[in-house]
Amino acid sequence: SRTPLMAGNWKMNMNHLQAIAFVQKLAWTLKDAEHDYDKVEVAVFPPFTDIRSVQTLVSTDKLKIGFGAQDCSQHDSGAYTGETSAEFLAALDTKYVLVGHSERRTLHNETDEICQAKVTAALRHGLIPVLCVGETLEQREASDDPASIAVAQLRKGLENLPADAEIVIAYEPVWAIGTGKVATAAQAQEVCHAIRVELATLLGDERAAGIRILYGGSVKPDNVASIMREPDIDGALVGGASLNIDDFSSIVRYTQ
Ligand code: 13P
Repeated sequence: SRTPLMAGNWKMNMNHLQAIAFVQKLAWTLKDAEHDYDKVEVAVFPPFTDIRSVQTLVSTDKLKIGFGAQDCSQHDSGAYTGETSAEFLAALDTKYVLVGHSERRTLHNETDEICQAKVTAALRHGLIPVLCVGETLEQREASDDPASIAVAQLRKGLENLPADAEIVIAYEPVWAIGTGKVATAAQAQEVCHAIRVELATLLGDERAAGIRILYGGSVKPDNVASIMREPDIDGALVGGASLNIDDFSSIVRYTQ
């Protein structure tokens, strides 16, 4: 009942002209392959400066490709130089926003408290937050329960979640991001299952059963199918491979 979501996190790659060309080509490729978007949802996460262009293309050509931002401010407006409000993103029909990607947590010192405030800001403006959680290699090696790190981030990030909130969770072990070291399907499932158990504790069984949990970290065309076979994994958050049309469309078409 959970529709898989294949999400491409472009990180700081592609300007708005490249974004237009890419999304157009992705749409053609998926059309040629007769992709059924109701069976596997597709979304791209371009840099802020591309979003207006992607919105225009998606609405003009009536594409079924969704789009999200890679971050948003916890504030709605005001003296926050360099920040981008969830309200502005919502005004561009942005559907999703990543919150707490490990690169934001490490390079921009985003704490669980900041992530929680960003989740709330996104929801306040009708965006679906994609809360990213995951342990570093040091944390994994130091712990006898590796899932507990992601679960603790989840618990703090979802504090005071409104009852009707739609959210997506992305489990990204930091040691698997951009390293080519993909977690084994069993390792990914173990943590994603622990996340779902915690969601059930926080929100109840029924809501937990409806929330999509994505895996991210070196997802490629040749490993996506085995990851997607796991019962608690409902999609992928793809970095490097989402910048290549052939790779990303193969990942989207993982059942073929
Ligand atoms: P890679 O797919 O390049 O490992 O990146 C994963 C990621 O961080 C997606 O958000």
